[in-house]
Amino acid sequence: AKALGRSRYEIFDLTMHQNALSVLQLETELRRAVENQEFEIYYQPIVSLSTHQIAGFEALLRWHHPSRGLVYPGEFIPMAEETGLIIPMGWWMLRQACRQLELWHDTVQESELNQELAHQLTIYVNLSSKQFLQPELLEHLDKILHETHLHPSHLKLEITESCLLADPEIAEERLKELRDRQIGLCIDDFGTGYSSLSYLHRFPIDTIKIDQSLISNISIDVQGHCEAGMINRTKGLPLQIVRTIIMLADSLGMKVIAEGVETKEQLTQLRLLDCDYAQGYLFQAPLDALTAGKLRVEPQ
Ligand code: C2E
Ligand code: CA
Ligand code: CA
Ligand code: CA
Repeated sequence: AKALGRSRYEIFDLTMHQNALSVLQLETELRRAVENQEFEIYYQPIVSLSTHQIAGFEALLRWHHPSRGLVYPGEFIPMAEETGLIIPMGWWMLRQACRQLELWHDTVQESELNQELAHQLTIYVNLSSKQFLQPELLEHLDKILHETHLHPSHLKLEITESCLLADPEIAEERLKELRDRQIGLCIDDFGTGYSSLSYLHRFPIDTIKIDQSLISNISIDVQGHCEAGMINRTKGLPLQIVRTIIMLADSLGMKVIAEGVETKEQLTQLRLLDCDYAQGYLFQAPLDALTAGKLRVEPQ
């Protein structure tokens, strides 16, 4: 038994070692990626459900790894946050995304696109909690907005609930400084984890983005597979939550975006609920800047 224990220990140790190695390797590669500009931004349209037009784009990070190919943020954002690399990456992201929007605002003048609509396009950029709390945040934002000549309201920062609730006092102060500059503020992944409707009024937020885990379950009622009453009630819960979020947001003067919309049934349900905007594969997956710029401002 002792021998077995020992070999188990060794196997465990080896795995630990390998994990430590790959963590170290990922960190080294991430640093190199920042220096070599191996990142690219993809853009996913956000569609207005009242006008049927593209209202803006969410900027999403992609990593062109020299040997592994296209790597998605889920695989490297956590490490980037842990190592603090998210800070330089985040500033690059913010500047690039704003530059891209400026380019779109400018170039549409020569195309057939509806100019007025194109000039209303908004860019949504994810902000990590580290970035949100950086003392230099406002300085950076001022500089970027000045450089790109964008009106601050055309930039929306996506912040997660957990980021706000970690230290609500500081978060509130931060948000007020951003709001004073007319920068748009959006709570991302709303309805997951921490979710507490009661704190919403406290923060000067203008938009709520409902998480895709809720959206993916709102159309069950529409499909009408009811069994026992209990089951049906449980299955209808995401729909009830989404309805409540939309009503509350409306009463607080906030806009709502539904993310991860994949089916017509979900869209139908969201229209019935008077949701303001939607985003998801049903409309368009995230695209490189060139392709995204060629989308017609009217998607259908
Ligand atoms: P997120 O902010 O919740 O972004 C939405 C994610 O859902 C994106 O994944 C997007 O590609 C994906 N998505 C869009 N439509 C659909 C759909 O209809 N169905 C499904 N199942 N998924 C859909 P992505 O691009 O892999 O990004 C993952 C996460 O990485 C993001 O989640 C965000 O938290 C983070 N992230 C991405 N870019 C940045 C960045 O520049 N900075 C920071 N701090 N985080 C980022
Ligand atoms: Ca987001
Ligand atoms: Ca989200
Ligand atoms: Ca999400």
